[in-house]
Amino acid sequence: MTLSRILAAGVALAALSHGAANAQQAPAVDLKAAEARAAATVKQMTAEEKVILTHGPMPLPFFPGTVMPKEAIPGAGYIAGVPRLGVPALTETDASLGVAWVGGLRKDGATALPSGLAQAASWNPQLLYQGGAMIGSEARAKGFNVLLAGGVNLMRDPRNGRTFEYLAEDPLLSGMLVGAAIRGIQSNHIISTIKHFALNGQETGRKYVDIKINEGAARESDLLAFQIGIEQGQPGSVMCAYNRVHGDQACASDWLLNKVLKQSWGWKGFVMSDWGAVPGLDAAIKGLDQQSGEQLDKGVFFADQLKAKAAADPAWSARLDDMNKRVLTAIYAAGLDKNPAKPGGAIDFAKNAQVAEETAKQGIVLLKNREGLLPLAKTAKSIAVIGGYADSGVVAGSGSSLVHDEKGPAATRSLGGDGPFAALMQQSYHRSAPLKAIKALAPQATVTFRDGRYIADAVEKAKQAEVAIVFATEWRTEGLDQPDLSLPDGQDALIAAVAAANPNTIVVLETGGPVAMPWLDKAGAVVEAWYPGARGGEAIASVLFGDTNPGGRLPVTFPASVDQLPRPKLDGSDWVEPNFSGDPEPGKDKLVADYDVEGSDVGYRWFARNGAKPLFPFGYGLSYTTFSRNALKVAGLSASFTLTNTGKVAGDDVGQVYLVSRPDGAKQRLVGFQRVSLAPGASQKVTVKIDPRLLADWKDGGWTMPAGEYGFALGANAQDLGPVVKVKMAARNWKD
Ligand code: BGC
Repeated sequence: MTLSRILAAGVALAALSHGAANAQQAPAVDLKAAEARAAATVKQMTAEEKVILTHGPMPLPFFPGTVMPKEAIPGAGYIAGVPRLGVPALTETDASLGVAWVGGLRKDGATALPSGLAQAASWNPQLLYQGGAMIGSEARAKGFNVLLAGGVNLMRDPRNGRTFEYLAEDPLLSGMLVGAAIRGIQSNHIISTIKHFALNGQETGRKYVDIKINEGAARESDLLAFQIGIEQGQPGSVMCAYNRVHGDQACASDWLLNKVLKQSWGWKGFVMSDWGAVPGLDAAIKGLDQQSGEQLDKGVFFADQLKAKAAADPAWSARLDDMNKRVLTAIYAAGLDKNPAKPGGAIDFAKNAQVAEETAKQGIVLLKNREGLLPLAKTAKSIAVIGGYADSGVVAGSGSSLVHDEKGPAATRSLGGDGPFAALMQQSYHRSAPLKAIKALAPQATVTFRDGRYIADAVEKAKQAEVAIVFATEWRTEGLDQPDLSLPDGQDALIAAVAAANPNTIVVLETGGPVAMPWLDKAGAVVEAWYPGARGGEAIASVLFGDTNPGGRLPVTFPASVDQLPRPKLDGSDWVEPNFSGDPEPGKDKLVADYDVEGSDVGYRWFARNGAKPLFPFGYGLSYTTFSRNALKVAGLSASFTLTNTGKVAGDDVGQVYLVSRPDGAKQRLVGFQRVSLAPGASQKVTVKIDPRLLADWKDGGWTMPAGEYGFALGANAQDLGPVVKVKMAARNWKD
């Protein structure tokens, strides 16, 4: 795709799906000018200077022999600049949820957004823009000019330990949301990545699991999420993934990096490696532009070795020029040189906490509400709060993305054994206690707390109270997958016992992804709060008492059991010894995950294909009001419909338009969505543009749509669909 087409598509789609509310847009980027400047700078570079921007260390004191570069800030990465030519160093920090904590090493803190899934459950690109703008501003104020954000791998398996960092199982929802977040981040004159490119669907054997998938299926799913995200967000950098694809490491995959990303999509930025993901020098020819966290690889390939190759071989010399041009294009496009980020900038933490709280509120999903048990009356007399460290805070996911405020975690529990990465493997809690927030909203109530370790004790308290609220946590981390969909530490049994003792039991889930709910029939109400971030306690209490009417919708399917998944057994789960680095044990690096089982039918598409009923479908979520969804019309590539609030309180609904059939048979795909806020009795007409790639197949190097009737339906969710509207469409074939 040409640059102008990418820009035009981005602007047109953004304008349509965000409407007038989208006043905050990142400044328009003149990529052509940035590229021309980059080419001119490359011409002035010496052979020595050409291998400066191509590699760098992880500036952390953990590695023996690492000399911290003077300008580097402790964080994920550092790439030296070229001062003679006015090229700034790249100072890099994680991640999509905020400026990472790195064990408190910098003695500072940052605002933690809720998890990626919580953000995505808002179905609100504008909200992700604001979150991105907020975390980007904090990164900048701390002197970082690259944020390793934009995690957009699709949820192919709900047991993936990093599910909480990612957004959804659908390419349109994921792509639109990640694009908005990246626009927000880059509005601060810093570079954002989009990651991990690509097909990085599990942590088990993460550096060697080999993904098998045909090109068409990849283009219609995981790659489409990246493609839409890149069009929408124009990230300066793409971070390639740890896993293998078709036998090659993703960071040395000619197909992914050269053929798809650079040639087919025409993307002009630079590919940085994930940390410890570079197999050798050859990765440069395969399309990798920068070796990150170089101490983690077997060698520093992109310095002297690259210089020597470029001196000896014209093809390598041209490649090296292109690598520099790409890094420089990203630097100039984001304006890193003209707007230098310096440590010590002012941060308005109170204001930023409001962004985190609003995101949590918009992302909370009400899963069950028996006979209006929720919202709770503020006049409630007695409430038993049980479990989940609700007296301390809300749980956070771990790994490189972990964010904490300047006081650090409210509580931690070590779960990393005695391995070298044990310090990273801690279940920790943000300082936002639901117990305190509940007490603040129900000042007349007697609110008691039990930690939930003893079922008998929790049951006793629950019996004595009008209402019992059980907080259940399911911690996840980078580096490990979940063995199944259960809640750990006997929490399923705790909930079942409490719910049996008190019918007014409300379960608040703080989970990093879908979980099974064997106690669902017994529970009075269930609230999915995800990892709700820096102000999660306040957001949860606000939903429980009805100050916030929940409008979140599931961005992923909650399966009834692992037997419903394309791969009931997670590949490698029976023999891979998990370790954070993901390196194989000697001689044990043969692990294949066959994504051709479901192909592009990820998540709800898989359930539709099999006619299976999940526990909760994609797009599902209840409200304290009711909605009607009517008048779906599809004309060309535009769909319009009307949403009406038919209840008594204000609330948000998310209109979801699905393709349900094509001339060649049934096929379900989300093709458009919009979240709207409606006063009681109010209606709103919504128009969404349909991206034709969602109607097409990828075949023989291009997109193809058969001629004939296409069926569309407006859904409350992926399984609760309104009447089908049939539209005739002409055959179409096109290239990216
Ligand atoms: C993760 C990346 C992260 C990088 C730098 C890796 O382990 O996979 O997401 O950006 O570390 O911390």
